[in-house]
Amino acid sequence: MTQKPMSVLRCMECGHTHDLNDPVYVCGKCGGLLDVVHDLELLQPLVSKALFDSRLGEVEPPYNSGVWRFKELVFPGIADEAIITRGEGNTGLYRVPPKLASWVGAERLSLKHEGENPTGSFKDRGMTGGITHAILVKATAVLCASTGNTSASMASYAALAGVQGLVFFPDGNVAAGKLAQSIAYGAINVRVRGDFDASLSLVRQACPEFGIYLLNSVNPFRLEGQKTIVLELLQQRKWRVPDWIVLPGGNLGNSSAFGKGLYELHQLGLIDRMPRIAVIQAEGASPFYQSYVEGFKERHSMKAHTIATAIKIGNPASFIKAKRTLDYTNGVVESVSDQEIVDAKAMVDQAGIGCEPASAASVAGVRKLIEKGVIDKSEDVVAILTGHVLKDPDTVINYHEEKLEGLTSTYANHQRIIDPTLESVEALIRGEKVSIH
Ligand SMILES: *Cc1c(COP(=O)(O)O)cnc(C)c1O
Ligand SMILES: [Zn+2]
Repeated sequence: MTQKPMSVLRCMECGHTHDLNDPVYVCGKCGGLLDVVHDLELLQPLVSKALFDSRLGEVEPPYNSGVWRFKELVFPGIADEAIITRGEGNTGLYRVPPKLASWVGAERLSLKHEGENPTGSFKDRGMTGGITHAILVKATAVLCASTGNTSASMASYAALAGVQGLVFFPDGNVAAGKLAQSIAYGAINVRVRGDFDASLSLVRQACPEFGIYLLNSVNPFRLEGQKTIVLELLQQRKWRVPDWIVLPGGNLGNSSAFGKGLYELHQLGLIDRMPRIAVIQAEGASPFYQSYVEGFKERHSMKAHTIATAIKIGNPASFIKAKRTLDYTNGVVESVSDQEIVDAKAMVDQAGIGCEPASAASVAGVRKLIEKGVIDKSEDVVAILTGHVLKDPDTVINYHEEKLEGLTSTYANHQRIIDPTLESVEALIRGEKVSIH
């Protein structure tokens, strides 16, 4: 008699199950999306808020990590020594300053800044889970398609684990900070003539063909790590559940992870009610939104266009899992224009907090949902900032120099230039007009 396993991989399409230690990340039978299914009854006696809280002072790996502090819910039973971690997570939860709060129109808004992870985006939370599994199943090379942040993260964790990272980038705008990271950390960087969706499709064909381990968010171990964003923010709030959690949606891995994490917490009795999730897409990359407004009569896809490159995805891989999140949380989907995104970003940046364009979609989304009366201004809202302000310096500078094509720089902060004389400084201080360029 073998023991009942604590967790299995189960296909979302056909229900077929795999062992957690099998070298698979899509269904071996039908190719469907796999879900890590934890036996919550077996898990129940092993988890508690007290246990998770007791690890908050840890200084050593793996429990100093904001992912592995919740190990029992992420990868139960894994040996501590097998975990590949950079102490990810432990990111700030900011009460928004008054000026930003009044711009958004929210009375109780806070921002969870996932740009404060080791490589500057939430992808690190997923990557520590994915790479740990990759090493467990003895992978020697790992591959992802990426708009930039997944590659930056994977390149770092692959180097740390001593395996070769290989990245397929879409042709055209990858933000400078992200590309620089992937090159610096030693990944092999490849441009694929096509968009992100074409790159991901190629990755999904190439990995089984050439025996390379896949680290996109179709990999269910990534989502197990990413769901700790929600666990950590609840812990930071002393486990008080907010009314809303708002996040940007691209490939919809994070949206999927949030719903799964919340569902498990609720089932385990660690929270007494579910918050509502709002997924925000960029207008030009909004297939999930389009399906949502039609009551999910069909699954849309589109050719994606948006300045927020991290969510420039036309055929989200985790579509059905994200739909499940909406069902679990009575969730909503909204879309925002690039103009709304860059202005929200300028406001977040000028509050001293800063984020990359895709992250600002969540703040633009809160503003819009309040305007529409979907979120009440007195409700308790947490919006997720997914990436760091330094990820995309070109968009920052071009916005403030009024060089973003087709967009208005509503809150531009111009540079000034002066001669090296005290008179010029005096004129500057007196507020006299000094030349901008
Ligand atoms: C990956 C990413 C997203 C989108 O997350 P999905 O899981 O693909 O929906 C949003 N913002 C940033 C900064 C990202 O790196
Ligand atoms: Zn299947």
